Amino acid sequence: MARIVQKYGGTSVGSVERIQHVATRVEKAVLEGHELVVVVSAMGKSTDELVSLANQITDNPSKREMDMLLTTGEQVTISLLSMALQARGIEAISLTGWQAGMKTEASHGNARIEAIDNGRIEKELAQGKVVIVAGFQGLSPDGEITTLGRGGSDTTAVALAASLKASRCDIYTDVTGVFTTDPRFVKKARKLHSISYDEMLEMANLGAGVLHPRAVEFAKNYDVPLMVASSMEEVEGTLIEEEVTMEKNLIVRGIAFENDVTKVTVKGLPNRLNTLSSLFTTLSNHHVNVDIIIQNQVDEEHVNISFSITQSTLKETLNVLQAAQDELQFSDVTFEEELAKVSIIGSGMVSNPGVAAKMFDVLASNDIFVKMVSTSEIKVSVVVQEIDMVLAVEMLHEEFQLAEEVEELSVTV
Ligand code: ASP
Ligand code: MG
Repeated sequence: MARIVQKYGGTSVGSVERIQHVATRVEKAVLEGHELVVVVSAMGKSTDELVSLANQITDNPSKREMDMLLTTGEQVTISLLSMALQARGIEAISLTGWQAGMKTEASHGNARIEAIDNGRIEKELAQGKVVIVAGFQGLSPDGEITTLGRGGSDTTAVALAASLKASRCDIYTDVTGVFTTDPRFVKKARKLHSISYDEMLEMANLGAGVLHPRAVEFAKNYDVPLMVASSMEEVEGTLIEEEVTMEKNLIVRGIAFENDVTKVTVKGLPNRLNTLSSLFTTLSNHHVNVDIIIQNQVDEEHVNISFSITQSTLKETLNVLQAAQDELQFSDVTFEEELAKVSIIGSGMVSNPGVAAKMFDVLASNDIFVKMVSTSEIKVSVVVQEIDMVLAVEMLHEEFQLAEEVEELSVTV
């Protein structure tokens, strides 16, 4: 008998039929003798629909009321799934995030989990029940309902798995696993048998939507083996774990990409010691999230600084800069929209020089102009025009031979 946490995403519980299908899967695991905690998301696109309702009332809803509203989505699913199990004669109980002891910081919309008081869950498990927990929600120290950020049910599941010392955390979703790149865009994308926490973290942060980045962070910190698999098809998923699988000749493991990138250039800033710090302090004070940064010296006295942001924050960014123009002493701001970020990721890069060079070479030989670059030990990201994004991904996928099924050799480090 094992203690297992399963998580089902929105699509997997998107209708009554799908909820019944999930109940069948849970029933199977129960009949195999396992102890089950099941975390669910809101049905289908219902969180988006709730957001849209709020936007029809006001442009600027209070964050507290938004959390109050959005957490209703998951409550629908937990109760329905519990009923579906009970109807099959399986003992089950649904719990909201706060009933399940999910304690978060006092921040609305994107709160971090601070602790889990799992007494209630343990008690219900001890009575032989399947415990169904609402994902994405918690309670702040002052008793307010909070949410963990969009896609946060993954994080609920992994955090519970860590806290309950579950032997596994299985994330069931509408894809069959983690792919070398997004199969909706690149036909040759291949499903990975396994990927390391660090690689998965980069993939998730760089735009691969399959897992919430914070969930991966949690899994890494608490050593929770994570499995991403399909809720519909009975096929092998992708295992995310510390173990490093050495794939022969495979330096790059995956390619992530995202569009809606905008590059902003602040021109003619004074070439002073504190220029960078003043500029980015001003932006961060206004919660402008900046990604890649480039500084160019124009002449002895002046520098230009470019940075990338998500398109949706452009207006706010320009307003903040305009308001601070006298203080920052720049001459002009320009921006370039319709850009995209393409990133190659792989732990093998650490010990293999020339990966970035190869990437630039592939892009140049396909007439793709690189506008910004950023690197870490295990990734290289470039900003290109949005119209070149898919071609760039396809060419890189080809060059780094990601479509080829490779012999895997597992080594535990
Ligand atoms: N229902 C929430 C969302 O759509 C949380 C989740 O699905 O993980 O973002
Ligand atoms: Mg999700």
